[in-house]
Amino acid sequence: MPKVLIAGGGLAGMAAAAALGGAGFEVELFEARPFLGGRATSYPVPASPDEEPETIDNCQHILLRCCVNLLNFYERLGIRDRIQFHKEFYFIEPGGRISTFRRGRLPAPLHFTGSFLRMHCLGRADKLGIARALAALRRERKRRADLDRISMLDWLLQKRQTPRAIDRFWRQVLVSAGNEDLDRMAARHGFQVFWLGFLSRADSYEMGVPSVPLGDLYGSEAWRRLGKVQLHLRCGVERIGPDGFSVGGGLRTADAYICALPFERLEGVGLEAPRLDHSPITGIHIWFDREITTLPHATLLDRTIQWMFNKQGGRYLQLVVSASRDLTRLSRNEIIDIAIGDLRLYFPRVKDAQVVKAHVVKEQRATFAAAPETEALRPEPETGMRNVFLAGDWTRSGWPATMEGAVRSGYRAAEAVARAAGRTERFLIADLG
Ligand SMILES: Cc1cc2nc3c(=O)[nH]c(=O)nc-3n(C[C@H](O)[C@H](O)[C@H](O)COP(=O)(O)OP(=O)(O)OC[C@H]3O[C@@H](n4cnc5c(N)ncnc54)[C@H](O)[C@@H]3O)c2cc1C
Repeated sequence: MPKVLIAGGGLAGMAAAAALGGAGFEVELFEARPFLGGRATSYPVPASPDEEPETIDNCQHILLRCCVNLLNFYERLGIRDRIQFHKEFYFIEPGGRISTFRRGRLPAPLHFTGSFLRMHCLGRADKLGIARALAALRRERKRRADLDRISMLDWLLQKRQTPRAIDRFWRQVLVSAGNEDLDRMAARHGFQVFWLGFLSRADSYEMGVPSVPLGDLYGSEAWRRLGKVQLHLRCGVERIGPDGFSVGGGLRTADAYICALPFERLEGVGLEAPRLDHSPITGIHIWFDREITTLPHATLLDRTIQWMFNKQGGRYLQLVVSASRDLTRLSRNEIIDIAIGDLRLYFPRVKDAQVVKAHVVKEQRATFAAAPETEALRPEPETGMRNVFLAGDWTRSGWPATMEGAVRSGYRAAEAVARAAGRTERFLIADLG
């Protein structure tokens, strides 16, 4: 069987390795760090001097049921059952009032009608506007040619959305899904999230949260199921070209090579990098001395913190701020103060609670910025070299920079490798919509 070398052990590289390994190819994957997972991983953080270090995710990662390729990758590794799905979204206003978003009995795309009409955080005019815009989104998604040129905010203003509908509904869902502000996000990404996640099927919005630390998902026992896949950790690739990978000063050769590195690393290994920008995400981890909330997760309206995830009986909360440019220039203590100040507004128990410890992870290069007119800058898996292929959430996966996008890119690169070897394997699963 043909032999393939892969650089990068993030989801894109792992997905390519799992697909090709499962199809009988001989695969070697090289990852610079001592663990797999790339930007979707976990690691131990030092606790207080008398405590064991705690393993935390770099940031809470969630998926939706419409992430069919990511779920397929988890199945390949035999870890699909470690994703717990939630059928309710909770929107909380300052003061603590909760609006619950869940599907009802009506078929898609009307399945949210009941809970949507009952959402306290939106008024009548907001809801009417949103309903009109969702109907327009269904009509326009295949017809409009300018969705990559205009921003999502441009489109929402064209549809005369109220400021409250924009802030409490569209922004709240889309900024975390696309990791970009509405005025900087190409409308095509907003369309895709709403179409695939909320309109195309009644269950596609269900939110999957891993029940174990992210790093545990990619443990070595899972890889034994996948044939001839060899993993090399702490093994950075220095150069990538049609003659092979330079690793540790030596040349490793094979029939094909996949580069699954972040785009900012391409020049360093001798490949051309696309002219994309980054958008940051900040994850804030706070441990309290008591239970703060019984909600499993919630989206927090009108303030800095966008999402809360309850990790340990309401005492350990993971908070997420996407497109967090305003936070990246602040110190960690300033960010923790903002987070605790916000939490007090939504969860009254925070006022009496003591913070046991807190940790901030600022990911400056979290994802590429999904700005208008960037789609053409995202490359296909094929390069000008017949045996070198690209993968990564920044390549033209058809999705924004997400775990699903990364896995799709890995499967696309694996299909390109198979084609170049004269084979017909298909790995990519079509979107539900
Ligand atoms: C804070 C944060 C929160 C996020 N939240 C979500 C979420 O909730 N849902 C979601 O779907 N997505 C989320 N994402 C996006 C998601 O994590 C990424 O889209 C996805 O993990 C990217 O995978 P990748 O394989 O393309 O790249 P990466 O994960 O960056 O993988 C690249 C790998 O290459 C390795 N590498 C670099 N240089 C070399 C070298 N020279 N040789 C060998 N290896 C090298 C790196 O160590 C890394 O492991 C989030 C991202 C961040 C940062």
